[in-house]
Amino acid sequence: MKLVTWEEIVEWSWGLAEKIRQSGYKPDVVIAIARGGYVPARLICDFLGIENLLSIQSQHWVEAAAKGEKAIIKFEYEVDLSGMNALLVDDIVDTGESVILARDFVKKRWKPKELRIAVLQWISPVAKIKPDYYYMEVKEWVWFQYPWTRLEDVTQFIKRIVTTELKEHGKKRWTYSEIKEYFKEWYGIEVDERYYRKAVENLVESGILSRESDDIYALNVK
Ligand code: AMP
Repeated sequence: MKLVTWEEIVEWSWGLAEKIRQSGYKPDVVIAIARGGYVPARLICDFLGIENLLSIQSQHWVEAAAKGEKAIIKFEYEVDLSGMNALLVDDIVDTGESVILARDFVKKRWKPKELRIAVLQWISPVAKIKPDYYYMEVKEWVWFQYPWTRLEDVTQFIKRIVTTELKEHGKKRWTYSEIKEYFKEWYGIEVDERYYRKAVENLVESGILSRESDDIYALNVK
């Protein structure tokens, strides 16, 4: 797990913008892939002086009947980008499915003159596509804990810890500080206090944990 700071995001987006500038490509419009591409796309607009920013949401869906996941474009809409150079921006190309789907949709339906792809991270051994621009090539798969998904990720990770510990060791009750200790041990990162607090609150709200007393949480077994 790589904990990513806001400062790193600025550094990396700056570096990515430099690569685009040096290549001579001059985008007229930036297209952010929602949601991960929003922050880098906005920064690239700033660093390259681009006014036009659109977005497209490409999302993975777990199909009820089928095993695998399928990516779809949510909220399809039409815009005319003919005659324009476009730049599609995302945080990371992992499998590459989201980017491939967004690229194909934009090319077919929005018809830009040219479309190039820029991302902060490219996980080269697993990706089905090589982006035109990337700030960092990642040769060993790792989860990037980006600052814009911190609460969502911490909530998911704590859920994973408590459900796994129940399955493997029958552990049902947790103190708040135990949750934090396990988190640090499992994932090797630390986040601000507010994220642990809110993540636990989220899990209580969604019925996964129950608050038994001030400091004791119990996992609700289904
Ligand atoms: P992909 O598998 O390339 O379609 O990835 C879809 C989206 O999932 C990315 O745009 C990210 O927002 C998120 N994601 C996938 N893999 C990672 C990873 N290793 N670290 C952080 N976020 C990821």
